Amino acid sequence: MPIGPGRAKIFIGGEWVESAGETEQQIVNPATGEVIAEVPNGTLEDVDRAVSAARRAFDSGWGETTPRERGDALLRLADQVESHAEELAQMESANVGKPISFARTEEIPPMADALRFFASAARCLEGKAVSEYAAGFTSMLRREPIGVVGSIAPWNYPLLMAIWKLGPALAAGNTVVLKPSEWTPLSALRFAELAAEVLPPGVLNVITGEGLPVGAGIVRHQGIGMVSLTGDVSTGRDVARAASDTLKKVHLELGGKAPVLIFDDAALEATVEGVRGGAFYNSGQDCTAATRILVAERFYDTFMSAFLPAVEALKVDSPEKPESEMGPVVSRAHLERVAGFVDRARGAGAEVVAGGSGIARPGFWYPPTVVLPNSQQAEIVQREVFGPVVTVQRFTDEDQAVTWANSVDYGLAASVWTRDVGRAMRLARRLKFGTVWVNTHILLVSEMPHGGFKQSGYGKDLSSYSVEEYTQVKHVMVSLD
Ligand code: NAD
Repeated sequence: MPIGPGRAKIFIGGEWVESAGETEQQIVNPATGEVIAEVPNGTLEDVDRAVSAARRAFDSGWGETTPRERGDALLRLADQVESHAEELAQMESANVGKPISFARTEEIPPMADALRFFASAARCLEGKAVSEYAAGFTSMLRREPIGVVGSIAPWNYPLLMAIWKLGPALAAGNTVVLKPSEWTPLSALRFAELAAEVLPPGVLNVITGEGLPVGAGIVRHQGIGMVSLTGDVSTGRDVARAASDTLKKVHLELGGKAPVLIFDDAALEATVEGVRGGAFYNSGQDCTAATRILVAERFYDTFMSAFLPAVEALKVDSPEKPESEMGPVVSRAHLERVAGFVDRARGAGAEVVAGGSGIARPGFWYPPTVVLPNSQQAEIVQREVFGPVVTVQRFTDEDQAVTWANSVDYGLAASVWTRDVGRAMRLARRLKFGTVWVNTHILLVSEMPHGGFKQSGYGKDLSSYSVEEYTQVKHVMVSLD
């Protein structure tokens, strides 16, 4: 699909179809503020059509495919991503404002890798031994697909997050109705078109539109057995509440506010580089972004005298330039949200020691910003900004660091920077987060689960655990008489 106005369709049953909606959403390049495409504002009727197509595809064969057949299809989807890598990278860069060099190297390859992992995982699901747990009766387990799964994706990594959902869902034998974010639907639509060369019609359907009515319509639909959302905590609550009416299985990957615990024995250069990358990658619009930097009192001056110049040196420039390290934030509304957090922090007595005001150029730009809050309870410490903004606090001892790290509502990811193995292991246990990194931050691998504790949600993306999420377990007991 070319990036450009004019094509306003959704993808249902293996083909482009007109939406039942009468209005269109303009898709904007955040680096310039220009409209680059238009997509339909979908409706409940579109949801209905997509669910019917997905149901037909499930009943007419996909639900009966062997793991090897599904694995083969996923391998071919990975090939499709790779053979259209440049086009998809350009699309993500233009739609989200991410530097093209990162889109090429950090986003497209993990999509193909995740699809290949799920292709293998489809063939390796495990269960308990078949046995006689009651004398005279053999018990066995069947792991079965759920049927039609609704996937609702965010805007920060539009296609990667969608693939984290549709990959395991398809691997487990489900069919999918996917709704990308209303701000970033282009790559999901194009992927659906590419996938149609591989998958039977209706196995993957993509409908565009707002959370209300389209997202909510997916959550409430009787024909959908499970809904998986990656999004904000408040959206997660709405989805869980709405899903209770039909007792749908719910999978929630929500926000984060990752602490970064830096001890006085940390390797300075590697720490500065790792934290800078973890904090400002994708303009800080990452649920695991290294946003709360906690530094040991004795190491604070040393760290800051290297960290602040490193932040100031970040190349914030047009995403098209290969040397750009950071682009804009995703939209005008989001720019105002990010700026609002920093302005309120300043008003509440925080010191802003880098960045802190908008960049005057077309599009939605905000500089890498470092804030020194005056309280652990400050809004800027407690709430997810989801932009290029970090806080730095100094702690006196390990207990204070752990207490501060854990005392937020989120529980997605944390990192510890130390050369003391015992301390690293102790903190890996004490930190209440779904991922704890030691001497690194933000790196994920397809084999390992990703998901939150506390308000960051429940259910795991990636790994064989995520494939299990998209199955239901059936006990079959057979009398031996
Ligand atoms: P969002 O919650 O605003 O939207 C996410 C998706 O939900 C969109 O497609 C949106 O249209 C849809 N939606 C909104 N309201 C809905 C409703 N009532 N019912 C059903 N669907 C609805 O989030 P966002 O701004 O697109 O994404 C940013 C958020 O996502 C951040 O909080 C970030 O931390 C989180 N995130 C989490 C992970 C993770 O793996 N845990 C990964 C990426 C992003």
